[in-house]
Amino acid sequence: MSGNRTFTMIKPDAVENGVSGAILKQIQEAGFKIIALKQTKLSLEQASKFYFIHRERPFYADLCAFMSSGPIFPAILEKENAVEDFRKLIGATNPANADAGTIRKNFAESIDKNAIHGSDSDENAVIESNFFFSELERF
Ligand code: ATP
Ligand code: MG
Repeated sequence: MSGNRTFTMIKPDAVENGVSGAILKQIQEAGFKIIALKQTKLSLEQASKFYFIHRERPFYADLCAFMSSGPIFPAILEKENAVEDFRKLIGATNPANADAGTIRKNFAESIDKNAIHGSDSDENAVIESNFFFSELERF
């Protein structure tokens, strides 16, 4: 059975471009409730830990450098079928391949600066949410 929560981050490119508010608006209008949200900035070490699953990929070093390059907005979101529905809402990893109307089509520049993260499984949604948020930060 699929869970009702997922984890997201608005990435440094989108925060820098001033579109965080527009992205959050699209997320809420798609029916996701914001359970937790904050602005923070990862150190290179923290980004490397978050993306450890990708350590063998050729883009790992660039990805960690980018994700620690500026502030981000991590968030926990709630909706029925959250993980799958949110992946649909954000669109393909490469915005050039993302469907019209998706967040990445609307706001992302390139495959490495792709505006937003979405968990790929219920299990990872829990792990990623716990990386950023304590119980006291969830409502
Ligand atoms: P995310 O995990 O950020 O939601 P995703 O699940 O669509 O993205 P992953 O395969 O998990 O894609 O890759 C994680 C991130 O690594 C991507 O969002 C992207 O920023 C970067 N990335 C993935 N593939 C490439 C690539 N071929 N070249 C450069 N960066 C890449
Ligand atoms: Mg992923």
